[in-house]
Amino acid sequence: MSAIPVPSPGGRGQIAHLGGDIPSPANPPPGCKFHTRCPHATEICRTTRPVLEEGTAHQTACHHWRELPALTEPAPTPERSPTTAARFALWREHST
Ligand code: SF4
Repeated sequence: MSAIPVPSPGGRGQIAHLGGDIPSPANPPPGCKFHTRCPHATEICRTTRPVLEEGTAHQTACHHWRELPALTEPAPTPERSPTTAARFALWREHST
């Protein structure tokens, strides 16, 4: 949602930078397909696929949509996963 353009010349919103690993489209993870990058993911997100539900103004497929705050601020940046941290360490090691 933070990637939606701001309709103002020169205006820029705050874009949430996602951490975690991009899942393989050929071998998607179980549960919610976004859980490897979602800062709000919990155990149920990793194991159970959320069903599409009617929200107040639209449909959503998220286990936690009722608990999450409205998107007025970008989501917190999650910690890097061990795999991503190892890739960055390898890149740093070979880029100097
Ligand atoms: S179900 Fe919702 S909270 Fe859980 S990983 Fe997916 S988008 Fe994030």
